[in-house]
Amino acid sequence: MVGTGPGSDSGGNAERHCPWCGSPATTFVSRGYTGPTDETNQYFTCEGCGRTTFELVAKTAREMRLGRFKPGDFYQDRANRTRYQISRVLRVGSNEFLIYLKPLPPAEKRRVGATDDLESPI
Ligand SMILES: [Zn+2]
Repeated sequence: MVGTGPGSDSGGNAERHCPWCGSPATTFVSRGYTGPTDETNQYFTCEGCGRTTFELVAKTAREMRLGRFKPGDFYQDRANRTRYQISRVLRVGSNEFLIYLKPLPPAEKRRVGATDDLESPI
C-alpha cells in the first residue's frame, strides 16, 4: 500500500479536496482493517492547512449516550477547530456506533450541491 497507483478497484476512491481550504493535497486514511494503524475513524489530512477532516468517527455506546449524537446535529472537533453536521448514525456492533460527518466549512466557502455523497458503503 504505497499509494502511488490509481487504486481503481477499491471503490469510492475519488479525489478528496480539503473542505476547509480547498486544497486537493489530501491524504486519506481508511477506517481500520487495511491501514498501518488500528484506526477506528476514517478521515483525511490536508497538506495545505494541516487539518484533519473526519468522514466517520467511531463511538462506543457509552460515548453515544454522553454525547447525544443524532443525525442533523452539529459535531464539533475542538482539536482542529472544525465543524460538521451528523448525516447519519449507524450501529455496527454490540458496543460500537459510526457517526457519518459532513464538513461545515465557513459560510463564504460553502459549495452548492453534493450534499449527500457519504452514502457509499465502507
Ligand atoms: Zn486544508
